Amino acid sequence: VGCWDHVGPAPKDPINGVTEAFLADPSPSKINLGVGAYRDDKGRPVVLQCVREAEAKIAGSVFLESLSAVVNSKMIEESVKLVYGNDSDVVKEGRFAGVQALSGTGACRLFAEFQRRFHPESHIYFPDPTWSNHHNIWRDAQIRERTYHYYHHDSKGLNFAALIDDIKNAPHGSFFLLHPCAHNPTGADPTEEQWREISYQFKVKNHFPFFDMAYQGFASGDLDKDAQAIRIFLEDKHLIGCAQSYAKNMGLYGHRVGCLSILCSDSKQGAAIRSQLQQIARAMYGSPPVHGVLLVSTILSDSDLKSLWVDELKDMADRIRTMRTTLRENIEKLGSPLCWEHITNQLGMFCFSGLSPDQVDRLAREFHIYMTRDGRISMAGVTTGNVNYVANAIHEVAS
Ligand code: PMP
Repeated sequence: VGCWDHVGPAPKDPINGVTEAFLADPSPSKINLGVGAYRDDKGRPVVLQCVREAEAKIAGSVFLESLSAVVNSKMIEESVKLVYGNDSDVVKEGRFAGVQALSGTGACRLFAEFQRRFHPESHIYFPDPTWSNHHNIWRDAQIRERTYHYYHHDSKGLNFAALIDDIKNAPHGSFFLLHPCAHNPTGADPTEEQWREISYQFKVKNHFPFFDMAYQGFASGDLDKDAQAIRIFLEDKHLIGCAQSYAKNMGLYGHRVGCLSILCSDSKQGAAIRSQLQQIARAMYGSPPVHGVLLVSTILSDSDLKSLWVDELKDMADRIRTMRTTLRENIEKLGSPLCWEHITNQLGMFCFSGLSPDQVDRLAREFHIYMTRDGRISMAGVTTGNVNYVANAIHEVAS
């Protein structure tokens, strides 16, 4: 018998499966609404101008180990400012442990591993539903998962009352994963008032909030506004964990640039936790590649490039919002008897359409439109050129 005879194929990933089906479809009118990455109004991937200019600025840099350490700490410093605020005390006093991570996924994985090392019996609470890879990441770190209520199928919004009940009923000191903005896949975010209540209840129960921030800037077009949830928790003096990704908001998907930060009670604890995180990373992949990090630190530490980025980020968020309005209007114009308000109420990259798995299958079969079977539409895939066609198809299968 061969050494690997007992190995069967892994279950298909629900998101990658959509791309495979899309690529296999020969129709020229096919549309991929499964993509998680931003596309412009022509459906093309985008390299931001700020990134092009940063590329030109760093061209020819020699990546010595010493440079890598400097660039790394600059990137971390600028990243934590984005999350916790330029003037936040935790940043000024160094009361955090920050490490560079392989994009948002890598930051989550590092945190899950850290959680297992120091709280091996703990669970992680995920919103129901959540990004499908969260299940894989914590499972591979051998942390058991539980879920908390999040989405309300009838309103296609947040089920706030049930969410609060679950926070209250979870054992003291539980670990919760929260999406601070642009919840994936539902696009349903708590309001400011609701975040205040959530933060208060976390305080009462001494729960640990871990924020997975993959879309800062994509919900409102404004970086600070999208960090509001975290700032509220900060005001309430929680010790927070946060995973950041530059895949979407800087369009650096392939560069895998991210940051994991954990707030600490003082700088001594910060140094201890940082050394643990660095050791975990070292055993997993040594150190991360430096090119993308250099791009991010160049953009964030140059005021012109940073304001260019802020403008470009707003343009991306605005395009998505415009497509939400147009898609909703077009479906309504067709005389749909159903309610489509949720298309514009939801925020960020995704619209949780409410289409059933059968309706999603029909969209693929009859209209060559592809999305995950939970009915999640990537709004980044909707363009001025295809919005009418998409609206017609949705109306057709939904009525
Ligand atoms: N968290 C959430 C909620 C996401 O939607 C994503 C991207 N789909 C990620 C993390 C990780 O993305 P990346 O590793 O590409 O930064």
